[in-house]
Amino acid sequence: MNDKTKGLIFDLDGVLVTTEYNHFVSWKKIAKAIDVSFNEHDNEQLKGISRADSLKKILELGNKAISEELFEELLAQKNEFYLNSIKKINRSNLLPGVIELLQSAAQMGLKCAVGSSSRNARFIVTKLELDFYFSTIVDGNDVTFPKPSPEVFLKGAQRMNCQPNECLVFEDALSGVAAARAGGFMSIGVGNPLLKNVADVYIDSLTEFRLEAYA
Ligand SMILES: [Mg+2]
Repeated sequence: MNDKTKGLIFDLDGVLVTTEYNHFVSWKKIAKAIDVSFNEHDNEQLKGISRADSLKKILELGNKAISEELFEELLAQKNEFYLNSIKKINRSNLLPGVIELLQSAAQMGLKCAVGSSSRNARFIVTKLELDFYFSTIVDGNDVTFPKPSPEVFLKGAQRMNCQPNECLVFEDALSGVAAARAGGFMSIGVGNPLLKNVADVYIDSLTEFRLEAYA
């Protein structure tokens, strides 16, 4: 059991908001441009990993080698496709239970952080009008090592002045749960049945989570 919880750290994609489909469609365009077939099943492998590692996976899938120059160009292009597709993101894209949980945390005096591999996490949090709830956002621009390195969560805890064993990490990806474990955090797996036997606690949706049991 955790020590008394003082901070909550949330992954962004798949926990607070659904942008997985936006990513998928953007990567599919990139894959098509380099003549690699890419479907939703392949897309599962990209969850929770960085943009560069995602492109490496796609190249592996298609058994392709490309120049460093084209690699960088495709990364930029993917981000452009993605940013265009999320320009209209708003609170209707939030997953169920997010606002309620953030409000409970605020009422109970707990700090909240975002810990995401995305370099666009700040942009998305602002579009969702959630800045108010987070004392810090750690994103892909702030870390050297992507999940499953615990760096992103350790930074979040540090910025909230909390120890890892005083925080809960909410994650929907295996790499994220592994990162939480490596950092000494209690992990709450959300909405991904693959996490049922991997995360410390598993819930299908944040609506099921009872914060009072941990604080
Ligand atoms: Mg995620």
